[in-house]
Amino acid sequence: MTTLTAERGASGTDSRDHVPLLDALRDAIGAAYVLTDAQDLATRLVEDRGLRSGTAIALLRPGSTEEVATCLRLCQTAKVPVTPQGGNTGLAGGGVPDGGIILTTDRLNRIRQVDPTNATMTVEAGCILANIQAAADEVDALFPLSLASEGSCQIGGNLSTNAGGTAVLRYGNTRDLVLGVEVVLPDGRVLNDLNGLRKNNTGYDLKNLFIGAEGTLGIITAAVIKLFPKPTARATALVACTGPDPALALYARMRSQTADTLSTFEYIDRLGLQMVVDHAPGCSDPMVEVHPAYCLIELTGNGAQADLDARLEGALEAAFEAEEIIDAVIGASEAQKDALWALRENLSEAQKPEGASIKHDVSVPVSRVADFIKVATQACMDHMPGLRPCPFGHFGDGNLHFNLSRPVDMADADFLAEYGAFNRIVHDIVHEMGGSFSAEHGIGTFKRAELRRYKDPVALELMEQLKAVLDPGQMLNPGKVL
Ligand SMILES: Cc1cc2nc3c(=O)[nH]c(=O)nc-3n(C[C@H](O)[C@H](O)[C@H](O)COP(=O)(O)OP(=O)(O)OC[C@H]3O[C@@H](n4cnc5c(N)ncnc54)[C@H](O)[C@@H]3O)c2cc1C
Repeated sequence: MTTLTAERGASGTDSRDHVPLLDALRDAIGAAYVLTDAQDLATRLVEDRGLRSGTAIALLRPGSTEEVATCLRLCQTAKVPVTPQGGNTGLAGGGVPDGGIILTTDRLNRIRQVDPTNATMTVEAGCILANIQAAADEVDALFPLSLASEGSCQIGGNLSTNAGGTAVLRYGNTRDLVLGVEVVLPDGRVLNDLNGLRKNNTGYDLKNLFIGAEGTLGIITAAVIKLFPKPTARATALVACTGPDPALALYARMRSQTADTLSTFEYIDRLGLQMVVDHAPGCSDPMVEVHPAYCLIELTGNGAQADLDARLEGALEAAFEAEEIIDAVIGASEAQKDALWALRENLSEAQKPEGASIKHDVSVPVSRVADFIKVATQACMDHMPGLRPCPFGHFGDGNLHFNLSRPVDMADADFLAEYGAFNRIVHDIVHEMGGSFSAEHGIGTFKRAELRRYKDPVALELMEQLKAVLDPGQMLNPGKVL
């Protein structure tokens, strides 16, 4: 990216047209926190995988809720739109600015309160997820939200995307982990709904408007999040099965035999495992034989380790007898358990050396997830012989990353030209099965057309009406979601 002068702003946007606004912003939050140099903005203009880039006049780094409110008030008066940003790890293009101003929450990074008896923590939006997990750990509690991006994503971004991750099966999505929020509205008003109540039936549940809104309705500045008892034991296994049908039967068994200790049930296709073994440093196939599919299973609990191990082993023995699984490796030490997890965690990265891939982040009812894998795989193979489907992910949530790697001898560009055709094939199947074309990553700019195509028309109308009420001037993250 070329370096531009401060006056020129970033990527060709001319900040000289906005001198009065920038001066007012400098007065409000301090000149050091109003950045216009292209170098300061460079990483903020590009989506995590480099798939989209945008332009912006300036990057604002307010240090308090009041400063966020002042920034939004000044921007609204000047009619300059604002794109909120957290860690910029989002995968739907929602944080990429299209002109206007970027407002990052990175200086709102205080943990305001920990209340172990209420089992809550009040955190500012810019707290890095991993730091929140560590703070919970310090009071012997668990904040279960866990994503591969946890070292850089922020809790405000997690709320705004209603992030999922690997603990949804037991603890739910981000939405299920939040009791209250503080939000600055586009006109600068501050909504204080920062309560830590588990019971509060006092009208509409406003916090849920902002959770998952991808910064289009308000800027979340703080939240009250739930803490949970920290598990004292975990039992982890990688099992092999002949395909998605026995995997689904196994899932049903694990739910009934391990009850609420079942925390993880992730699916890995053979091709995906092979890519990890081939490309991820330190990863190897823990089984002697090659199998069509695998499931990573983890139980967690607060009882004795031996009880949890016995529960896992008992369920797996029954699964062997029922021919739901054909091989299994149980982690005997913490290091072995981590090694099994590494096979799952390295999947996305291991696909990269295999060339272009077309990704779908979809969900169907759990009862249809095996059907989905079979039907969608066949339909995609029919469309492009030689294609290498690589379905993996949160099987127990009905959420799959249905990724397609290009045929070995095809050029990346030729393959990516088929993105739209594969979207139609996969998303039509998902829709017909009562599923969602965006399970975890949101709409951003990438999936706006799909939203128009598949969302209930009355739901879309209501979303537009809500946007018009809360942000009549289209000041906050314009062009995203709707
Ligand atoms: C390696 C990797 C693994 C990932 N794994 C998962 C996964 O398992 N599950 C999952 O759900 N996602 C996953 N993601 C996607 C991403 O990490 C999540 O969407 C995360 O919640 C985004 O947080 P962020 O702070 O980076 O938000 P950003 O990317 O900065 O922003 C995301 C959206 O929220 C808005 N926003 C950000 N902060 C605020 C705020 N304070 N107020 C209002 N709006 C705001 C932005 O405008 C944008 O629309 C992964 C990403 C990567 C790179």
